[in-house]
Amino acid sequence: MSAILDHTHDPAAQSWVASANAADADFPIQNLPYGLFRRAGSNDSPRVGVAIGAQILDLNRAASAGRWSSAEHVALQPLARGDLNAFMALPSAQRRALRQALFDALLAGSKQEAALQACLLPQDEAEMLVPCRIGDYTDFYTGIHHATTVGKLFRPDNPLLPNYKWVPIGYHGRSSSIGVSGQQVRRPLGQLMPPGAAAPERAPAKRLDYELELGVFVAGGNALGDTIPMEAADEHLFGVTLLNDWSARDVQAWEYQPLGPFLAKNFATTISPWIVTMEALEPFRCAFAHPAEDPQPLPYLDSAKNRAAGGYEIELEVWLQTAQMRAAGAEPTRLMRSNFGRSAYWTLAQMLTHHASNGCNLQPGDLLGTGTQSGAFAEEGGSLLELSLGGKQSLTLPNGETRSFLQDGDTVILRGYAVKDGARRIGFGDCAATVLPAKSA
Ligand code: MN
Repeated sequence: MSAILDHTHDPAAQSWVASANAADADFPIQNLPYGLFRRAGSNDSPRVGVAIGAQILDLNRAASAGRWSSAEHVALQPLARGDLNAFMALPSAQRRALRQALFDALLAGSKQEAALQACLLPQDEAEMLVPCRIGDYTDFYTGIHHATTVGKLFRPDNPLLPNYKWVPIGYHGRSSSIGVSGQQVRRPLGQLMPPGAAAPERAPAKRLDYELELGVFVAGGNALGDTIPMEAADEHLFGVTLLNDWSARDVQAWEYQPLGPFLAKNFATTISPWIVTMEALEPFRCAFAHPAEDPQPLPYLDSAKNRAAGGYEIELEVWLQTAQMRAAGAEPTRLMRSNFGRSAYWTLAQMLTHHASNGCNLQPGDLLGTGTQSGAFAEEGGSLLELSLGGKQSLTLPNGETRSFLQDGDTVILRGYAVKDGARRIGFGDCAATVLPAKSA
């Protein structure tokens, strides 16, 4: 196994931040994800922070309050000025070294405790922001169970097109409409073709849906014209968030041929605020292979490391809280579970390498969505389109309400975490957003 484990992955390590030591904490000291925040209700300039338990370590304040080696100080500089993109661009050895320094500083018994205590802000007193400048956003389609089920709805005889098992399929999405957990998403207006109608109408989308995805941020980029070989792909991956690719299915069904998703997708994308680094995910890597009877990847999409450890075992869940549930004080209800390591037909490294394989230049902070990660079984669909069989069979919620697609006031919450024997569980935090009514046409 080619995972790079060090003392920051010690499952027994505890922090002097007590909330980080709870068994179900998403942000124990082994995680240390990066996010961008300001004090809620303030006009402070955005700060980069690291989540630790229920707190945020403010790296602007920590850079001057803590004691750091000169190399650590260099790596902290972009973070201290709120520029996560510049930190992403550093070589992975420098990013890994800073993770080790932050881990040591937050470790129970650290001499830095007294100085850094004053650099903490409770997460519930922070407003989270989109964590970096996302220059470009691309959404892939690596979830093979999703691609098969959705393909059947659109093309019963021919669900998976012949390129699917050769090419990591994707499309260029829109970065300007990416928002962060806690946002409200307005139901889009769109051009819809009602079944049997002679002409389309313009109306609020009736079949509004979510998609359960991961997003991976690019670290160092490549110059236009250069490629990124598989052997170098890991060096160019920074970290992972949860990603909700909001989708208007009725708009999509009418507009998607021949050029693919457009207005059905570009009105909103929601990500979780904390970027869980590739270093934190090292213990959860797993072997990766296409089934023996399937085409094997072309050589440019293959490597020994990808076969040995290209996958990541990440548990994924979708939860829903309707306006009626919220008014009644009812907790969100879980709609499904799946696992990224078992649902993705292409790895994060293959997505990145394929994206740059024609010389397309990737830049620090670019975001690659994985596509919807549905499980193999019908109840593991990562969208309502799948769970409702294309809208034909509505779900019944615990309070008796039914859903085949989202209604105004619905809050969709994506959750994710990684667990493995011998490793500390780490989580992603919530990716939540609420549907607002459409503006009048
Ligand atoms: Mn998608």
